[in-house]
Amino acid sequence: MSQSRSPIYVTKPFLPDLQEFMPYMEKIWANQVLTNGGPFHQQLEHALCDHLGVEHIALFANGTLGLVTALQALRVTGEVITTPYSFVATAHSLLWNGIKPVFVDISRDTLNLDPSKIEAAITPQTTAIMPVHCYGHPCDVEAIQKIADNYNLKVIYDAAHAFGVRMDDGHSVLRHGDLSVLSFHATKVFNTFEGGAIVCPDAKTKQRIDHLKNFGFVDETTVVAPGINGKMSEINAAFGLVQLQHIDAALARRAEIDARYRTELADLPGVRCVRDSGERVANHSYFPILVGPEYLHSRDALYARLRENDIYARRYFYPLISDFPMYRSMPSANPSHLPVASDIARKVLCLPIYPALSDADQGRVIDVIRGACRT
Ligand SMILES: *Cc1c(COP(=O)(O)O)cnc(C)c1O
Repeated sequence: MSQSRSPIYVTKPFLPDLQEFMPYMEKIWANQVLTNGGPFHQQLEHALCDHLGVEHIALFANGTLGLVTALQALRVTGEVITTPYSFVATAHSLLWNGIKPVFVDISRDTLNLDPSKIEAAITPQTTAIMPVHCYGHPCDVEAIQKIADNYNLKVIYDAAHAFGVRMDDGHSVLRHGDLSVLSFHATKVFNTFEGGAIVCPDAKTKQRIDHLKNFGFVDETTVVAPGINGKMSEINAAFGLVQLQHIDAALARRAEIDARYRTELADLPGVRCVRDSGERVANHSYFPILVGPEYLHSRDALYARLRENDIYARRYFYPLISDFPMYRSMPSANPSHLPVASDIARKVLCLPIYPALSDADQGRVIDVIRGACRT
């Protein structure tokens, strides 16, 4: 182990050279447009539609406001079926709308909402399904849409992890469902410091969302809905335009890191690298492993051992959302109803993956995991 080692975090935000950003700042200072759908906001919306291969995008100040607003835009009420295996913002966006989350277990293959368990959770109050493309691996979008069509439910994807992901038909995963919500938080594959977006299928829906993210204003004197302030600022939008120039290289480096982990951990008893769910273009946003009983140590012992070596892997997603105090008394939050999610939450560990992770530092992570395996 090297002497002067620096900490390795699960992720490190990608930042381009500051000099690349300065001309954009100068433009903002010159035109004095700071927000409210200014020129960089509009440019980034168009650039993202082109890059992602989608029709319409509405930018947001963050992904959580995007989720909250998406539910408002579709007038979702009552109960919504969702996954317990996600970041807590997924279910929080429901509570903020006075909607009752109904948790359904995940599939062991994809770690996404298990379509075969959705129907049993539908009641007369159910109005929508909110699945998550966990780790950027697509849900079974066909099966979910079929159920939604049969029961006349909306589908809102929390696509916070799914930037740039394309299905086996080559189309963006973000084209599925009624709406998809992205996050551009600092820790995500594509970041604008803070930021997010709703991908919508038609201009009319985008217009409604654009009103909702600006207090419900449609013109100077007309307010049509109790909207919120969800707008992305010009500075974040400008930064997004710079980031977009680096995204292909960033994803290529992530792919290399992903491939090396898979090779070097392949023969390790009790360690399973989570596979993708068949996407043609993956984004390698996370590198989750599942630590089983055949491994020499428990998941938490490995987590601690990595920390002793200044490596900060993270247990995404543990605890389950359904185990947090505002959810755990709900009938659907009972762990006996969520056996797969409960099992995965006990085994999962996300290893460091980010474009600036050096080969040497990745080697340190691998050595600790392999070393911890030797008797
Ligand atoms: C990051 C994340 C969010 C929240 O996005 P913010 O931009 O941080 O508000 C929502 N859902 C999932 C699954 C996330 O990972």
